[in-house]
Amino acid sequence: MSLPEDLAACRLCADRFAATATAHAPRPIPWFRPGAPIVIASQAPGQRAHASGVLFDDPSGRRLRDWMDLDAATFWNRDAVAVVPMAFCFPGYDAQGGDLPPPPVCARTWRRAVLDHIGAPRALLLVGGAAQGWHLGRGRVSDRVRDWRDHAPGVFCLPHPSWRNTAWLKRNPWFEAETLPALRTAIRAALPDRPKPTTADDAA
Ligand code: SF4
Repeated sequence: MSLPEDLAACRLCADRFAATATAHAPRPIPWFRPGAPIVIASQAPGQRAHASGVLFDDPSGRRLRDWMDLDAATFWNRDAVAVVPMAFCFPGYDAQGGDLPPPPVCARTWRRAVLDHIGAPRALLLVGGAAQGWHLGRGRVSDRVRDWRDHAPGVFCLPHPSWRNTAWLKRNPWFEAETLPALRTAIRAALPDRPKPTTADDAA
């Protein structure tokens, strides 16, 4: 079997997920192909992705696409954009309805092999604290996002595009004014052959 097939068949967290408030079964979502020039290192699929099998098919994904200035067809083209979360399955909710963290066994088991399978990307987006910690070591998300120039243009440390960070985005207008233009330039450079969107739907 190929690595994506092996990953899709993984059930290491079956007991752990069965014990969550959502009591769901593992559904790994391999969203990558070798040679993808952009890699999004993220947290974990949400419940909606668990149901649909499509990563970032939600308001967070819409905001992330906007940050990257990518049309939907390019964003979900695995030859262009790979998504490598810290857990490839939805981790579930706790009894209070809060998001559970990605199970560490996932990154221990799969992450290195998946990143090697893809190869070195031209642009690596580290979305949120868990991915930033794995790739860069200990540090605070707010410091890393503020100091984005330390790693750009090959690596961008981003906040999670969740609605929970809307207030943070309002308080930090430099992110939209300075970080996003640099990110979009890096994305365009990573996809030099990308055709321009031709319809409103393409650009939505
Ligand atoms: S989260 Fe990772 S380790 Fe756990 S079942 Fe899913 S793919 Fe396997």
